[in-house]
Amino acid sequence: MSTLRLAVVGAGPAGAYTTAALLAQLGGDLEVDLLDRLPTPWGLVRSGVAPDHPQIRTVSRVFERTLDHPAVRFLGGVEAGPLLTHDDLREHYDAVVYATGAPSDRQPDIPGVELPGSITAGRLARWYNAHPAAADERLDLDVDQAVVVGNGNVALDCARILVRDPVQLQSTDIADPALSALAGSRIRHVVVLGRRAPAHAAFTHAELQELGRLPGVDVTIDAPSLDGTGPSLDTLRALANRPGSPHNRRLTLRFQVAPVAVRGDARVDALDIVHTELRDGQFHPTDRTERLDCGLVVHAVGFRGRPIPGLPFDDRLGRIPHTAGRVAPGTYVAGWAKRGPAGVVGSNKRCAVETVAAVLEDLRTGNLRAHGHDREVTLAFLRDRNPYLTTREGWRRIDAAEVAAGVSTGRPRVRFPTLSGLLAAAGRY
Ligand code: NAP
Repeated sequence: MSTLRLAVVGAGPAGAYTTAALLAQLGGDLEVDLLDRLPTPWGLVRSGVAPDHPQIRTVSRVFERTLDHPAVRFLGGVEAGPLLTHDDLREHYDAVVYATGAPSDRQPDIPGVELPGSITAGRLARWYNAHPAAADERLDLDVDQAVVVGNGNVALDCARILVRDPVQLQSTDIADPALSALAGSRIRHVVVLGRRAPAHAAFTHAELQELGRLPGVDVTIDAPSLDGTGPSLDTLRALANRPGSPHNRRLTLRFQVAPVAVRGDARVDALDIVHTELRDGQFHPTDRTERLDCGLVVHAVGFRGRPIPGLPFDDRLGRIPHTAGRVAPGTYVAGWAKRGPAGVVGSNKRCAVETVAAVLEDLRTGNLRAHGHDREVTLAFLRDRNPYLTTREGWRRIDAAEVAAGVSTGRPRVRFPTLSGLLAAAGRY
């Protein structure tokens, strides 16, 4: 019997856990190509997780062990899309697992959202994490007040990074341009807006508690009511009763207010909001509105998957339709592309196991078979389609160079801010 050859498209946590689950559950005669459009693997662990959360990034050590497996190849600079279609991949692999995440940033459908100074949380995260797509980003932080729209953990990440004393970011792997911009930031007050009541907030308790521990930052709570039970409400009540200092920066968590319009001429100078009330189990806008002065609005209202040419796509849910990870025999999906943008890094582990169970089932029933593809022929084909193809060795060179650059300043790594810098470090040029 010949070797079963699979492509896992997307080397984020979902792709890494899927590769590990394939190795663990299929064992034996198996080869996996882990493809990513960037020369760097680990997706949101590298370019989404906030730099002041280094412990979350440590999961990449587990992923590195998967990459060390001789049956696994990492191939960077390879993007599934119009130039590398689903049919192309099916021609060269026995099965393809899409772990392409939810790469489109959502933003509220309100007037003024396109004004300079109105940005998505994804854009802010790519900037502070030195994602190559943010290489030309120049954020104007010469403003007193910023507003973050949304009440999930991404909103809290954005708020923390904007309000924190930048001195505390100096020992992290934050992008250098972001560190310099934050060091010169004039922002003294960050307001986070939740359209529902505190009990309905999407953020988790640990992330809320962390806000109360930020040195030099006072937290203010503004909600119609803090009644109710649960750890987050206990913490909100405790935060609401803490004395502040006029010298501190300020973070305000406002509840039951929704954005209505971003205001400004050449750039943002205010956000109009409307108060909401609970009626028939839902939060509805009232006729009470307000204008919040601010020079920066960050929309942290979630993400969407992106269609893959040749695959079905559920436009309403923003993800690839599937049954327990199977799109069709030979085509599978894992992670946010499968479940939508929810859950922590570790949630992808169980999700990957389910998808790999579908692969196993198709093998068992004969719906999936090895066709004896040649690994080197596939590589030559991918190189032909993707002129900037990089390998595991390239990534290891980038990693070593970034880590070495951080040593003298006590930082975990100093990131290359551009794609050409990454490719040069990978030995591609
Ligand atoms: P999320 O948890 O789904 O939160 C999205 C927020 O946006 C919700 O508060 C939602 O309010 C709000 N929203 C949506 N549309 C809105 C609109 N038009 N106007 C105002 N508000 C709107 O998504 P996320 O924060 O992007 O996080 C994605 C996933 O990553 C989550 O599972 C999160 O826990 C995880 N994550 C974890 C960490 C961590 O562990 N530290 C860090 C970052 C992200 P409603 O609830 O009212 O819809």
